[in-house]
Amino acid sequence: MKVVIIGSGLGGLLAGAKLSREGYSIEIFERLPFTGGRFTNLPYKGFKLSTGALHMIPHGSRGPLAQMLREVGANVHIIDSDPMAVIKKDNGEIISFHDFRNELSLTKQVKLGTILTYSLKFRPNGDISFRDWILKYFDDDFLLKLADSFCGWSLSLTAKDVPACEMLEIINNMYLYKGSGVPAGGCSAVTDALCEIIKSGGGKIHTSCCVDRIIVIDGIAKGVMVKGNHIDADIVISDIGHPGTCSLYDCNDKEYLNKINDLKPSKGIKICLSSNEPLIGHSGVFFTPFTSRVNGINEVTNADPSLAPPGKHLIMSHQAMISDDTRAEIDLGLRDISRLFPDKKYEVLLIQSYSDGWPVNRASSGSDTGNITPIKNLYVVGDGAKGHGGIEVEGVAIGVGNLIKEMSTGIC
Ligand SMILES: Cc1cc2nc3c(=O)[nH]c(=O)nc-3n(C[C@H](O)[C@H](O)[C@H](O)COP(=O)(O)OP(=O)(O)OC[C@H]3O[C@@H](n4cnc5c(N)ncnc54)[C@H](O)[C@@H]3O)c2cc1C
Repeated sequence: MKVVIIGSGLGGLLAGAKLSREGYSIEIFERLPFTGGRFTNLPYKGFKLSTGALHMIPHGSRGPLAQMLREVGANVHIIDSDPMAVIKKDNGEIISFHDFRNELSLTKQVKLGTILTYSLKFRPNGDISFRDWILKYFDDDFLLKLADSFCGWSLSLTAKDVPACEMLEIINNMYLYKGSGVPAGGCSAVTDALCEIIKSGGGKIHTSCCVDRIIVIDGIAKGVMVKGNHIDADIVISDIGHPGTCSLYDCNDKEYLNKINDLKPSKGIKICLSSNEPLIGHSGVFFTPFTSRVNGINEVTNADPSLAPPGKHLIMSHQAMISDDTRAEIDLGLRDISRLFPDKKYEVLLIQSYSDGWPVNRASSGSDTGNITPIKNLYVVGDGAKGHGGIEVEGVAIGVGNLIKEMSTGIC
């Protein structure tokens, strides 16, 4: 069976590697001159910056992505963060992430424990946001700020934009799989390893090859058009989100169109810093609930020093984009950083903003609509089709796993 994949981001490559291992013949078309999409390295002044991700795998060596990488035999070493994360309080004190409960009154601590234990059994309804859920049960300023910091760092959203039911599944997965990790060598260690697996299975990956059209005959995907050439396929998998995929054929399914028109990408800003001395001093996430914009910061060189030139640290700050004024959002981010590290010397290496066709997430968490399209044998993977409860690339891996299951059981 021949599978054509549109896009060589993590979603496309994971699907390609999994299906290659199952004996499918794989051909991938990537419009850019490089593979990996928003999960690859960007060499800059001797640093390994990235096209998107902060070189972090949300659940480290135990999560769904790590499991899938092991399943396909990808040679990737994930260095688990230690500690998982810390929180910088309003008074400057830094506490372990797990100690956030100590900031709550005893009554709220007991309530939180009880609610989290039963949250998946008694799910909040889909309409209530995480922010409203916190207000309803706790009405606690510290928790609200921490929720915004966590959602901003991990999903590029504020707590009011994430459905509580999705967030509770994410929290459950945090307890299940534990904390984050950094792939040794950065993002490209993951995507390059997947490319190798696809190629060693006889698959082809073409870069600088944009798919212009998906060929659909009688409601069934039959292949793609690339540079005027007709490429036949039994199955077409798209890594460019539902709206992007839909723009490549004539879709008349009104219900599907209404559903995907509601999908909102999440937008964000990443600021990369270099410093001669550590600003954070460990490989976990540094949550900053009391800043104006920055949600969290990591210092990946504490996990893998090779991500910076010798003697240098690479620090990455992330913030959800709150307004459409990118310049103003960047200025607020830079001001936060200078207030967080008033006595430290650092250099701003690069500032990247992510929105529209190159966002943080094609479908904001909680709004994903799955892998299925109205066209038979046409599927979507990637961060426009994440599995529920999966933060970023974990959601991409869960989504790919869901598709493979559906394909093997023939349900779709
Ligand atoms: C600032 C930022 C920080 C992040 N930090 C993290 C993090 O630390 N940890 C984490 O887990 N996740 C993080 N993420 C999210 C993570 O990067 C994405 O979830 C993941 O890379 C998405 O992969 P994808 O395959 O869905 O999409 P993409 O990487 O966008 O891949 C899609 C590919 O399709 C190609 N394409 C588009 N149209 C066509 C066409 N017509 N023909 C052929 N090719 C086409 C594109 O060029 C692209 O290469 C971050 C994202 C950003 C932006």
